[in-house]
Amino acid sequence: MPQPDPPKRATASAKVVVMEAAFLAESRSLARMPVAGPPEIAIAGRSNVGKSTLLNRLAARKGLAHVSKTPGRTRGLVVFDLVVRLPDVSAAEPLRLVDLPGYGYAKVSRDERQAWQEMVEGYIKGRANLVLLLVLVDARRGLAQEELQLMSWLQDLAIPCCLVVTKSDKLGAAERGALRHALRQQAKDIVASLFMVSGETGEGVDALWAGMAAALEARRERRER
Ligand code: GDP
Repeated sequence: MPQPDPPKRATASAKVVVMEAAFLAESRSLARMPVAGPPEIAIAGRSNVGKSTLLNRLAARKGLAHVSKTPGRTRGLVVFDLVVRLPDVSAAEPLRLVDLPGYGYAKVSRDERQAWQEMVEGYIKGRANLVLLLVLVDARRGLAQEELQLMSWLQDLAIPCCLVVTKSDKLGAAERGALRHALRQQAKDIVASLFMVSGETGEGVDALWAGMAAALEARRERRER
């Protein structure tokens, strides 16, 4: 006799749902970082790349990350506590998003730049529960040497990373295709996934969340093995 299909889990959904999102801490030194807990996804990018706008969009909370019109205010690592429901997982689970201070701002002093580098590099190298790093680039700027270096360093450290093109709404369809192709060429040996998103319109954000969920799932599978 044919067996009936197993019941689908009632709470499963095809999309990542953000149940809760709150600011946890801003740490100006590694020593002051909150103790490592849930898995963390960090977000890096130059000042003004659209990081805060994207963060708000990812968290589905408008004012969570301050959207600043004055680029380059030096600051620490900003940690947000989220509770998310991943596709095909019935229980909600905690996740942290870590906003790394924007780099590439010319007006900071050499000392500040060095302190930034030590803090961010120390975080990336030393945080055992860092699951994924999103490297943001502005659709109008494309990839610079700094991002390529960062991604190649992440590859050496075996830390998964995604290239995320922000402000995709500024490009037409043909420009997007050309940019995607150019970025794939430029970063072909160092980046597996590329997402085009607009924090402003929300375009591409579900796909990005799906990529983030896959990284969380891959991490969980590695740990259970
Ligand atoms: P951050 O410095 O990287 O945190 O960048 P912000 O999120 O503060 O954004 C910098 C500027 O870019 C602001 O004027 C935003 O309104 C604008 N911006 C951010 N995201 C988008 C986007 O997806 N599309 C467009 N058109 N503008 C954006």
